[in-house]
Amino acid sequence: MSGTATLDRAQQKPPQDVNHYDVLIVGAGISGIGSAYHLKHQCPEKSFVILEMMDTFGGTWQTHKYPGVRSDSDLYTFGYRFKPWVGTPVASAQAIRDYMKDVIEESSLGEHIRYGHRITHCSWDSRTNLWTVEALRKSDGAGVIFTTNFLWMCQGYYDHEHPYIPNWPGMDRYKGLFIHAQLWDPKIDYTGKRILVIGSGATAATVIPAFCEKAAHVTMLQRSPTYFYCAENKNELADRLRQIGIDEPTIHRIVRAQIMFDQDLLTKRCLEEPDTVFEELKELIRHFSGKPDFPFEPHFTPTYRPWQQRLAFCPEGDIFRCAVEGKLSVYTDTLETFTEKGVLTASGEEIEADIIVATTGFNLLMMGGIPFEVDGKPVDWHQTVTYRGMMFTSVPNLAWVMGYFRASWTLRVDLLGDFVCRLLNHMQKIGARKVEVALRPEDKDMKLGPWMEPDNFNPNYLMRGQHLMPRSGDKREWQHTQDYWREREELPKIDLDAPEFHYR
Ligand SMILES: Cc1cc2nc3c(=O)[nH]c(=O)nc-3n(C[C@H](O)[C@H](O)[C@H](O)COP(=O)(O)OP(=O)(O)OC[C@H]3O[C@@H](n4cnc5c(N)ncnc54)[C@H](O)[C@@H]3O)c2cc1C
Repeated sequence: MSGTATLDRAQQKPPQDVNHYDVLIVGAGISGIGSAYHLKHQCPEKSFVILEMMDTFGGTWQTHKYPGVRSDSDLYTFGYRFKPWVGTPVASAQAIRDYMKDVIEESSLGEHIRYGHRITHCSWDSRTNLWTVEALRKSDGAGVIFTTNFLWMCQGYYDHEHPYIPNWPGMDRYKGLFIHAQLWDPKIDYTGKRILVIGSGATAATVIPAFCEKAAHVTMLQRSPTYFYCAENKNELADRLRQIGIDEPTIHRIVRAQIMFDQDLLTKRCLEEPDTVFEELKELIRHFSGKPDFPFEPHFTPTYRPWQQRLAFCPEGDIFRCAVEGKLSVYTDTLETFTEKGVLTASGEEIEADIIVATTGFNLLMMGGIPFEVDGKPVDWHQTVTYRGMMFTSVPNLAWVMGYFRASWTLRVDLLGDFVCRLLNHMQKIGARKVEVALRPEDKDMKLGPWMEPDNFNPNYLMRGQHLMPRSGDKREWQHTQDYWREREELPKIDLDAPEFHYR
């Protein structure tokens, strides 16, 4: 099968036995589907394919199957700009997949997706100005080769198959069931069991209230405390606008604006007055837990600033209600060793459990772990410098969708969708077949640093993986700033003829 390429192929005719597309999108998660939507609508002439290693779409929302799995962002902003969200602000993985299914069907994206295709190698050739993408087809184990003019990387940022599990002493001694939340099998029956959850981030905050419904008892063991944000799972403005008969696209626009305004304010306040913000978070916990004297020391008093890591959302303060009702115990301690019956902590506490669930996070995976080559040389991503967290020096015709952590990831999918389509249309207009970003003369002595300054955002998986990530500079062009509010002004105004863009 072959797509209808729109660029002049006189000198770049692909081999006959490969599949050629103008654009190849990697991954059918929320980024890949959103990017495909923008491509289809903003570059209707371009042929494209989406390669996805799993058997269905959804990415993160397909991989994670632990009890209660849900977003921790509101879906008005985690949903796409172009498709109104009509459910509760915080949504289950199933509701997110249903939403994505509608987008796929409404824009006929399904015919562009090849499921069960794991990309194993990507190589760029400057003689043909083409990427060659090798994939392994799951159905018959065959190798399939694609060529493409442009690679749109939507493969996410972590290893979907191998979560991060610390190498704790004595793990082989434990006689119960040990599992990482990312590998949870919905067939596991935890009714009446004693469950130990290791970790206290967003996943723990989600899974614990769900476990508490059926388990005999749940214990949370954390090395250090997390900030929690309790609120009702509803948006009063949206509900009111619906009540007075406003149409859904308008509600979507207004509520997104409201949420983004509020989040911007919260982010600024976290920097300027973190103690006041913490007091407000505590007040919400007291309110939702129904316990005016809820004890915050030692388990709920973090050592970092609010928003330096993702704030874990608790609809209706569910995890705190579990604690107050005696269904949940919390330990802040270091796990010393596993025992036959559970774990022993550094302070000598033995916690017995029938099931131990690690919510210890991800292994960061740069570009899905796919080996890349440019003109025969392997790409070491750490030797590249990122252009606004989406393109990379020395790697032509490629964009990566890495979303936001403090705002909804998907806000960036829409912004980068506009940018990449504008870039592709610009290249078509000027007859360019290659675009590369490069440091400008004024950037020659620029100090290069890690992908993310730890003071800005410092979750463990990112800190463990910084040495694998591209580097950034001290100017906005060479950083992923994680600042949606500035990017929404800046990205649409990027001058595509600016000196950092090199075309051929
Ligand atoms: C449990 C959980 C909850 C989260 N909640 C939120 C939230 O509420 N709000 C928020 O903003 N963010 C959240 N995030 C961050 C989240 O990952 C992103 O928001 C978003 O879903 C990522 O989408 P993506 O499409 O970029 O990547 P992914 O969802 O990771 O999808 C990438 C896709 O690429 C495919 N792929 C990877 N490598 C290859 C390959 N070699 N060949 C072919 N296909 C490949 C994968 O199979 C996958 O389908 C959450 C993350 C997790 C893990």
